[in-house]
Amino acid sequence: MEKHKNLSIFVPHEGCPNQCSFCDQKKISGTQNPPSPDYVTQLCEEFLPNDAEKGASYEIAFFGGSFTAINRQYMLELLQAAYPFVKTGRARGIRVSTRPDAISREILDILKRYGVTAIELGAQSMQDHVLKVNMRGHTVADVYSASRLIKEYGFSLGLQMMPGLYGRDDYMQYAVDTAEKFIEIKPDTVRIYPTLILKDTLLESLYQKGMYTPLTVQQAVEICAVLVKMFNRENIKIIKLGLHADTGLEDSLVAGPYHPAMKELVHSHIMLEKFTQSLECMPHGDYVICVNSRKHSQATGQKKSNIVVLAQRGYNVTIKDDNSLTGDNYTIIKEGEKQCI
Ligand code: SF4
Repeated sequence: MEKHKNLSIFVPHEGCPNQCSFCDQKKISGTQNPPSPDYVTQLCEEFLPNDAEKGASYEIAFFGGSFTAINRQYMLELLQAAYPFVKTGRARGIRVSTRPDAISREILDILKRYGVTAIELGAQSMQDHVLKVNMRGHTVADVYSASRLIKEYGFSLGLQMMPGLYGRDDYMQYAVDTAEKFIEIKPDTVRIYPTLILKDTLLESLYQKGMYTPLTVQQAVEICAVLVKMFNRENIKIIKLGLHADTGLEDSLVAGPYHPAMKELVHSHIMLEKFTQSLECMPHGDYVICVNSRKHSQATGQKKSNIVVLAQRGYNVTIKDDNSLTGDNYTIIKEGEKQCI
């Protein structure tokens, strides 16, 4: 089966009544103008495959703003432009992102009618205090009730969270709290976006006044590693980890844990933890760790960081490829001995 692909269409800041502390959607999306229905049709014509078999891998994704809070007529026009491509099988469905307080039965009826299959909620945090001081304008109760309704209607539910938001210093604990509450809700997918400070946002002014300290890249990696393990244990699919590199974002970034390969760093950190755990009960010395070749760079770490850390702990490790190993499996061999550990 072909890999899942999104045809992403950004609807920047359209209809959003809020100004969340971290948000400048226009810069994140790199798009200034809202897309017209004609533009949606043109984009779908151009990028969606012509046959239904290939179309089954595609979703048309309206991202960026609060899709279900935009002007109703405009929302309908966008859906009407996209829906024919779902009906003819050129896409398997439509995915939208929105605010938790912009979901009702009436809205879900409309989305169902126009081929929407997945709804993502920008929950961001499951602490009311954090939501309040970041000017989110919705509550944790809104996340619970919107999620319940979305699941009741049979849509795929996605939840987004932002570790490192302003409002609490114990970043790790409150990220874990939020993840635990997500797990209670049982979404199909999650996105994890460590909080970044963008120009002309409330977070920027708090940061300039010394009232907010963002996560470092290393802290974000450690927190995300814990979250990834929690969601993996529950079979909740993580569809995004960190914002993707784009010029709009890099131009407006003031501070925060931005790294173009955040996901890779997190997975590499998880591998380091596993290697450390396995090696801890063994004598210091020289070891070979075998992994599938696709995991080689994660096992080694960026700029060989995992190798360096393990050496500091007394283990001189060489990473070798062994494609008989699958997934994240690995074997450890003590140099000079034949036996696998
Ligand atoms: S609700 Fe969404 S689009 Fe509106 S300001 Fe907040 S993050 Fe940005």
